[in-house]
Amino acid sequence: MRIRTCEICGKRAARYVCQECGHEVCQFCFEPNTWVCLDCYNHLRREAQVEAFPWPAPFKLFLLGFILMFIGMILMVIAAVFFGVPAGAGFVVFIPPLPPIGFGAGQYAFFAILLAVALAIVLILFIMLRRRT
Ligand SMILES: [Zn+2]
Ligand SMILES: [Zn+2]
Repeated sequence: MRIRTCEICGKRAARYVCQECGHEVCQFCFEPNTWVCLDCYNHLRREAQVEAFPWPAPFKLFLLGFILMFIGMILMVIAAVFFGVPAGAGFVVFIPPLPPIGFGAGQYAFFAILLAVALAIVLILFIMLRRRT
């Protein structure tokens, strides 16, 4: 009878079969508590860690505010391109549930802020519509 070698290290004789991937592994490449190979064990542990530390809701909102701020800054650049540098620049800070705060500079700052606010509102509506479904 042929002795199967471990599919992870390829050196020692395989004694266990991984419950996850079905690989035959030796005792050194095996995690007996979970009955999986070390590859799967590391993989599962990483997944478990992700689930163990879910982002708290306020942090998600804070992140959303940052994303909107980033979009506002992109709009600032777009506005600068459209209206000419340095004619107008504006961006919006929106951290729920606070109302959006617009910052602007230059001749067309008002339009730049308006653009940023409009996009922020569109984005919020989009997120709200996606949550409902
Ligand atoms: Zn091995
Ligand atoms: Zn495995």
